[in-house]
Amino acid sequence: MFDTTKPVKAAPVACLHCGATLTQVPGAGRLRRFCTGEEGKAYRRRMRALGFPV
Ligand SMILES: [Zn+2]
Repeated sequence: MFDTTKPVKAAPVACLHCGATLTQVPGAGRLRRFCTGEEGKAYRRRMRALGFPV
């Protein structure tokens, strides 16, 4: 069950591209999943090449 009482950004997140631990920016905005936007692009390009609908 998803715990809605805790902020989702409190959890440590590893970069989906290189695995580095990301520091989340508190407050409004999206959850960080990559070190940089370029890594996000590279990740999505790679996943699409493998057939995943990202
Ligand atoms: Zn990264």
